[in-house]
Amino acid sequence: MVAAGFDVEKIREDFPVLKQTIHGKPLVYFDSAATAQKPYAVIEAIRKFYEVDCANIHRGVHELSQRSTAAYEETRVKAKRFLNARSKNEIVFVRGATEGINLVTSTWGRQAVKEGDEIVISALEHHSNIVPWQMLCEEKSAKLRVIPMNDRGELLLDEYEKLLSPRTRMVAVGHVSNALGTINPVHKIIEMAHEAGALTLIDGAQAAPHMKVDVQELDADFYTFSGHKVFGPTGIGVLFGKLKLLNAMPPYQGGGDMIRTVTFEKTTYNEVPYKFEAGTPNIASGIGLGAALDYATHIGLDKIAAYEHELLVYGTKALSKIPGLKMIGTAREKAAVLSFVIEGIHPHDIGTVLDRMAIAVRTGHHCAQPVMDWFHIPATTRASLAFYNTKAEIDLLVEGLRKVKEVFD
Ligand code: PMP
Repeated sequence: MVAAGFDVEKIREDFPVLKQTIHGKPLVYFDSAATAQKPYAVIEAIRKFYEVDCANIHRGVHELSQRSTAAYEETRVKAKRFLNARSKNEIVFVRGATEGINLVTSTWGRQAVKEGDEIVISALEHHSNIVPWQMLCEEKSAKLRVIPMNDRGELLLDEYEKLLSPRTRMVAVGHVSNALGTINPVHKIIEMAHEAGALTLIDGAQAAPHMKVDVQELDADFYTFSGHKVFGPTGIGVLFGKLKLLNAMPPYQGGGDMIRTVTFEKTTYNEVPYKFEAGTPNIASGIGLGAALDYATHIGLDKIAAYEHELLVYGTKALSKIPGLKMIGTAREKAAVLSFVIEGIHPHDIGTVLDRMAIAVRTGHHCAQPVMDWFHIPATTRASLAFYNTKAEIDLLVEGLRKVKEVFD
């Protein structure tokens, strides 16, 4: 069965990268969790900016500057709709999820976290949702607490409950794990954090490309994602923050655009979100991100999620037939990530042999070393899927892995 109304062959036509051959074979791209491919609509929006509209934004009265400003600011409105934020002023442009988290640790964190306070993260986090909190805790003599997981890669909510206390200032967890694909019960996690009087930050880098996100329904205090993983350009991302919190936070970086008035004696700051956006931003990528959000919305996040789930079920079953293959991450709620090890063969060798067959997978710790440590493995091979992938490509992966086994057995 193919998800109703989902024409994957038609969708593939929109992605020029997918039309090429590598080592003489059609490319099979299974590395979308690292970065997703871009449709023509995104490439075209960036080309149009440089070819027709190119100017700096927010300060010019001339036509090009006004056009560029309008196009860039239109993305803020699109991101507001994409996340169902209350106001476009809750959308702060950042470089990506990494900067979104660092912005919160270095503004809210510097102001709100005191000695003896606690920050809760989870055992599933990407390094970008570990290290900034660790740095903050070190600076403030605060404590980092970690929600443990079971051997499926699911967070243990009863253990989480025990970690929450009046000292908890922030609970920062990923919506979807990049290493294992686990979809965390963030709604429940947020509710429990709020009951304990803590704020929440959700790292949505791996959720935004695959499912409908509604920050109001979740009641997230902060939510961040990267443009390049939602089929947009690199160098741009979004940090959503509740307006009340953003208004109370000190600025992030100093410079042009984030100010209202400057004298040598005193500077007053611009309003939110511009207070957090110092300097000339990545204008072209911002405009490209708008095209990407339109593209994904037009296909429909619910349709995307249903189709990818079909691929996940198909892929999980197909890979289980490979002797010696062990799936790492078998959560009951899972996004389309197939992370695995094969007995006796190093993931880098698997990745190298698959590359010769034009199959692009990622091998390594996926910037989640604590997850690897938990499973007592140094690395996995990860095939991460998107809505432009097909069951036929999964068959090629299975065939490729059989060849890998022949080479190394
Ligand atoms: N969080 C998760 C779960 C991720 O997968 C990634 C990227 N792999 C990031 C954060 C960081 O995203 P970026 O590098 O785009 O800032």
